[in-house]
Amino acid sequence: MQQERLFKVLVIGDLGVGKTSIIKRYVHKIFSQHYRATIGVDFALKVLNWDHKTVVRLQLWDIAGQERYGNMTRVYYREAVGALVVFDMTRASTFQAVLKWKGDLDSKVALGNGRPVPAVLLGNKCDQLSTGLCSKLPKLENFTRDHGFVGWYETSAKDNTNIDAAIMCLVESIMAVE
Ligand code: GDP
Ligand code: MG
Repeated sequence: MQQERLFKVLVIGDLGVGKTSIIKRYVHKIFSQHYRATIGVDFALKVLNWDHKTVVRLQLWDIAGQERYGNMTRVYYREAVGALVVFDMTRASTFQAVLKWKGDLDSKVALGNGRPVPAVLLGNKCDQLSTGLCSKLPKLENFTRDHGFVGWYETSAKDNTNIDAAIMCLVESIMAVE
């Protein structure tokens, strides 16, 4: 018998870091320079044949136009089982905001056992880095561990770099919870 799992995953981070682009890339396999910022909450569904007996229905929740407040309501976070926390590798201020978003997440939703929901850190727009972030990598490893992320990835929604890997990492962590 096949079992079906529905996972609500939040995609959070500052305005313009590429949240909508990451979702569109992952779900619809497209990239565009211009996404209309629809106000409100939007979500996209991706169905994964996880293994021979499990189908995962992944609901990716996008926030639209509310990032400026730096936090979301409890209603938005309700029943989420994982999160992608995104920053823009070319804008330091968006990295500084990562902990604010992680804090907002952890203060508003938790697993049944009280543990934080798995969160993966995405440094997006890595295609725009001329030299790469190699020298900073060990630092981000520590940052990731110290702040309770299950992993981190340099991503590009534009070039389709590591988007699948980052989301796989998250889904694996979600599956490992139960
Ligand atoms: P959001 O506000 O977090 O949803 O960000 P958007 O997805 O709307 O992206 C903001 C801008 O960054 C848009 O012009 C995108 O085309 C651009 N963008 C998003 N991801 C990437 C990426 O990986 N590389 C580059 N070069 N630009 C990106
Ligand atoms: Mg958006």
